[in-house]
Amino acid sequence: MSEQPAFLLMHDYRPEAKAYWWTTFLLGTAVFGLSLVEVAKLSDAAVLQVLVGVAIAAVTGLFPVRIPGAKVSVAGAEIFVFMLLLIHGPAAAAIAAACEAAVGSWRTSDRWTSRLGSPAMAALAMYGCGSAFALAVPLLDTSGAGDRGPLFALLLLVALAYSAASTLLTGSLMCVKRGEPVRPVRLLRAHGWLALAYAASASVSGLVYMSFDRFGSEMLLAIFPIIAMFLSTLHFYFRQAETQVVAQREKFAAAEHAVAEAARHVVQLQASESRFHSAFTHAAVGMMLVSNEYRILQANPALCHLLGRSETELAQSDLKAIVHAEDVGVLQAQVAGLLSGADSKFTAEVRCLHRHGIDVWVSTNGSFFSAGDSGERCLIVQMHDVTARRRAESRLQHIAYHDGLTNLPNRSHFLEQLTRAIVQAAGDPAAMFAVLFLDFDRFKVINDSLGHRAGDELLTTAARRLRECLRPTDLVARLGGDEFAILVEHVRSDAEVMELAERIQGVLRAPIHLGEAEVTTSASIGITTSAFRYETPEQAMRDADIAMYRAKSQGKAQYALFDSALHTEVSSQLWMEGELRRAIEGGVVDVDFQPIFDLRSRRLTGFEALARWPHAARGSIRPSEFIALAEETGLIVPLGDRVLERACGQHAQLQRNIPGIGMLDLHVNVSGMQLSRPGYASRVKQIIAAFELHPEQVTLELTESVLIEKLSAALPNLLELREIGVRISIDDFGTGYSSLSVLQDLPIGEIKIDRTFVTRLANGGGDEVVRAIIALGRSLGKRVIAEGIESAPQLDQLIRLGCEHGQGFLLGRPMSTSDAEVMARTAATQVRIA
Ligand code: C2E
Ligand code: CA
Ligand code: CA
Repeated sequence: MSEQPAFLLMHDYRPEAKAYWWTTFLLGTAVFGLSLVEVAKLSDAAVLQVLVGVAIAAVTGLFPVRIPGAKVSVAGAEIFVFMLLLIHGPAAAAIAAACEAAVGSWRTSDRWTSRLGSPAMAALAMYGCGSAFALAVPLLDTSGAGDRGPLFALLLLVALAYSAASTLLTGSLMCVKRGEPVRPVRLLRAHGWLALAYAASASVSGLVYMSFDRFGSEMLLAIFPIIAMFLSTLHFYFRQAETQVVAQREKFAAAEHAVAEAARHVVQLQASESRFHSAFTHAAVGMMLVSNEYRILQANPALCHLLGRSETELAQSDLKAIVHAEDVGVLQAQVAGLLSGADSKFTAEVRCLHRHGIDVWVSTNGSFFSAGDSGERCLIVQMHDVTARRRAESRLQHIAYHDGLTNLPNRSHFLEQLTRAIVQAAGDPAAMFAVLFLDFDRFKVINDSLGHRAGDELLTTAARRLRECLRPTDLVARLGGDEFAILVEHVRSDAEVMELAERIQGVLRAPIHLGEAEVTTSASIGITTSAFRYETPEQAMRDADIAMYRAKSQGKAQYALFDSALHTEVSSQLWMEGELRRAIEGGVVDVDFQPIFDLRSRRLTGFEALARWPHAARGSIRPSEFIALAEETGLIVPLGDRVLERACGQHAQLQRNIPGIGMLDLHVNVSGMQLSRPGYASRVKQIIAAFELHPEQVTLELTESVLIEKLSAALPNLLELREIGVRISIDDFGTGYSSLSVLQDLPIGEIKIDRTFVTRLANGGGDEVVRAIIALGRSLGKRVIAEGIESAPQLDQLIRLGCEHGQGFLLGRPMSTSDAEVMARTAATQVRIA
């Protein structure tokens, strides 16, 4: 309201209220003016007394006596108003009442309607009541009542009337303003205390007036200070009391507020705690509260179920005690991250110990949690059972890393572990390891004769025996087929490994029952160690494999240690392999021709093409050095093709260059691997045709041992070659012990007596084998040819024994194409001369 501009005096007044206000205001003001006029008519002393009385009343109005607990205050000023009424009449009292009201309304309100209206109404009320009093007093006197008692009673009546008039005047304004009906009785009842206060003031006034009457005006001088003191004491006492009451009320309110707040907080806490408790108890996930020192404070039913333990059992233990010893470290690292503040939560997968001794895999999540009323920080840890998933994973991993038949680790697993051992040995030479490569000597025979099931049983039994004779830390794996490998770590010496190899051979030698049959088996073992500083597992496996072949070559049931000699051999072989591959691709490999003669007539009948590898650094490398390597590495296939093409090409050229020479034979050596490849015969046919040679001119030489080994695979090609017309010759005949029946049935046109038998002919004897071979060849209708003829006696003897054809250094060394052409030309001339 105070913000309202002063001129908007009645912005909240209804028209009736405005009318009412103006009426009372104007009437009051008129009464006030009238009173002033009346007072002015008094004597100077009286006027002075009135002024003093008015001033005192006004000043007293500044210090209202507020009764503690009541909403309104009473000013003691009425005492002086009533006194003026008694001494100087209604006009003086009306002025004093107006002034006192002005002071009071000025003090309590800043609205001008109130500041002007209140004094006007007070003047009106007092003037009215006072005038009635003034009219009544003479009546008292005239009725002869000289006593002061009736006057006193009349004054009390006037006080009550004045309070009623004031109440009705002001209260009606309020009602009209609010638009409520004016209910005088209710107004008077509500302000009854005012009547009492006025009556009290009137009593005091009456007493003072009677004293004044008896003791004179000096009495006033004494009584006024007493009244003033009394009022001010009351004023300050009540103010003090009021202040105290207010302070007490504020304190009480504050305390009440605090209690309400606390209660609200408790309710909230209880709600949140019960929510947490409910979540904790009913959670499907295992949960626990753990102290920073890993002490389990509380565990929920799901966790108890997960670990098969009771709540009390868990609550008394340590988090570390329920986690698998191997996983405690993982968990501690995670918790440390949380405690140090580096992380706000952690996640780990660990194994927990179930009461029944089984491991339970749990996915663990943890974070901080403020527990209970103390707000102390602890960890809240959730555990989720992931055992099924872990088991499935490890099952899959097992399958991926194990051999289905023997359940031993497989090649991948072995290579992985070997890689780890290599890395470890590289960092610490004392961490020496050995790799044993094991191959059963007669597995194929057993498998073929007793069937696959028996073969499987043999492998299973062998696997079990191997595992039993090794330390738990050793790793035995099945690489495939009948090949096994063993990784032995922390080896101290070669002797220790050799001892192990002997022990293995010992346990494998024991007979094995396969159904009805009882078989004995043996294994060849190749060994290598980390002493060779391997960088890859493949290198170690390769060397162990090489050592195994060395062991096999020494006979069955042997073991061999890979050594530096083998190492050098292997390194040079690796180098050779690379070189040979490049030589074949670059068309460097060439052929020499060794002449073949009809021994009796000494007529040149053909040439044998022999592979030659001219090497930039190592000169001409002989076939004995690279053919075996080419066969091992498979390079023999492109090499053989290249030789056949080159031989056919040069041979055809030679024939063209010497028109009268007739048809010369061309012998070309082939490997078993070439012959066992499908389509080889067609390829030969194609090459022969490309150089316009006749298939009958061409003989393919195949060593006897190779022929027997690869017979079944080579047969289709052999039959097709015979069909084409190409002759097959058995090279090095007599060294391979081939049975006669085989020889009889095979599409073979020629046998070549091995050089060793020819050499023995040198000193006149040793002709039995040669004689037998020649006889055999004749009986089977095969052409017989001798190789390695180095001396005239050998030649003579061969002729005597009936050998038709032959070759050797005596007759002609392997030579270049141009030399071969010279020889052929000479031969042709001789033939013509003859
Ligand atoms: P081979 O087929 O028995 O060839 C004859 C070998 O004996 C040749 O050795 C030849 O130089 C040698 N020789 C010939 N006459 C005599 C003699 O009077 N005395 C002695 N001591 N040696 C004689 P080379 O050229 O070193 O060939 C060795 C073996 O290499 C051949 O034996 C043959 O098995 C194989 N070979 C050569 N070229 C090829 C080829 O192109 N393909 C295949 N698969 N093998 C080949
Ligand atoms: Ca040959
Ligand atoms: Ca030979």
